[in-house]
Amino acid sequence: MKIIKNGTLISPQKMLIADIAIQNNKIIEISANINPSDEDEVYDASGCYVFPGFIDGHTHFDMDTGTAHTADDFISGTKAAVVGGTTTIVDFATQEKGQSLKEAYDIWMKKAKDKSSCNYRFHMAITDWNETIKEEMNKMPELGVTSFKMYMAYDSLLSNDAEILACLKKIKEIDGVLGVHCENGTLINELTKEKIAAGETSPGAHPASRPDYVEAEAINRLAYISTLADHPVNIVHLSSLAGLNEIRNARKRNQEITVETCPQYLLLDDHYYNLDNFEGAKYVISPPLRKEKDNKALIQAIVDGEIDTIATDHCSFNFKNDKELGKEDFRKIPNGAPGVEHRPQLIYTYLVEESRIDVMRMCELMSTNPAKRYGMYPEKGALEVGSDADIVIFSPDYEGVITASKQIQNVDYTPFEGFKIKGQAKNVFVNGECVVKDGTIVKENQGTYVFGPRKRV
Ligand SMILES: [Zn+2]
Repeated sequence: MKIIKNGTLISPQKMLIADIAIQNNKIIEISANINPSDEDEVYDASGCYVFPGFIDGHTHFDMDTGTAHTADDFISGTKAAVVGGTTTIVDFATQEKGQSLKEAYDIWMKKAKDKSSCNYRFHMAITDWNETIKEEMNKMPELGVTSFKMYMAYDSLLSNDAEILACLKKIKEIDGVLGVHCENGTLINELTKEKIAAGETSPGAHPASRPDYVEAEAINRLAYISTLADHPVNIVHLSSLAGLNEIRNARKRNQEITVETCPQYLLLDDHYYNLDNFEGAKYVISPPLRKEKDNKALIQAIVDGEIDTIATDHCSFNFKNDKELGKEDFRKIPNGAPGVEHRPQLIYTYLVEESRIDVMRMCELMSTNPAKRYGMYPEKGALEVGSDADIVIFSPDYEGVITASKQIQNVDYTPFEGFKIKGQAKNVFVNGECVVKDGTIVKENQGTYVFGPRKRV
């Protein structure tokens, strides 16, 4: 048995000083004082917060864009996740045109299986909707896939409104979740053409070609599609106040809608695109970074309970060779940035330490809500007897600075270079194994596939 003693246990509703006993991969007891026997392993959590393991509901590991490949695969990506306190990631298995969903699932399973240091699960990104796929959707829950994604932008990935509506109706039948990348791809293509025609080829043209209204319009349209299908949707990586206002409008009409954002949309603004030496390319992500007013509005929305989850959209490309593909033409810069490693520290430092939210809300945004949204609760997302022993002992005393030279993410930069941080995942347990001790990985490859409550191995 393993016993975590004297920690402050966090849930969305309460904080409680208590001990936790772990047997195999489960929490078997929580009480004021658990007396260890000689053979028990004891972990002292005095002065630390004890969270249910953090869940990152939005990562892209081992992904190819056709011209570039992500710097992180499941080996490095999940190591980076777990060292930061993230014990489960939900990655996007992406269907290519002509592929069945099972084929895409098998490809992603092969990328992740026996290589992952944290637990993993997949959203199925659908890029080729048709009658055969519609039929195949019925079988996805048997594979543990209950969440899906569609894109409203990117020519190679996007679905039109009719396809999104049909897919969402099917998802309602199988009681699944649809997350949508909300940006109007047609408008982006047009605005991009204008920029190129005007000779604007630098990273600064990237945010200009996809302004906030392009996100807002897509969110508004999706909200009505959701009403037509009579099934809620999940807005992934919300970036703007304009987009948030459309969510508010939809909710005023009693439309049920959940919202994810990411640290980059809270802590970084669009001045980074003007950096010298092509450094702005490091921040070429979609949706793009916005204005300081957007950062502030989204933080306030988190405080006010309008945002449900914080993920990362980790999609790392090296600056050297990969981002540099777009040196002469911003359209060729692979879109994405790393983030999976530092999310808990960034949110703790800039939201909890700044007294914007408390640790209970942090737990809700980063563990409990994603577990609920993606069908993993209460096995994940909760410190309860019977829950999986995915646990983070988080020390609030640690002080440090984020720097690419020290990160586990296998990428040559971080958009948060030089950011001061407080707090650290001191010990991390995955499936009952202590995999991080004093902030260092001591055991790799302990992650397993998460089926969710419908079925599990
Ligand atoms: Zn993404």
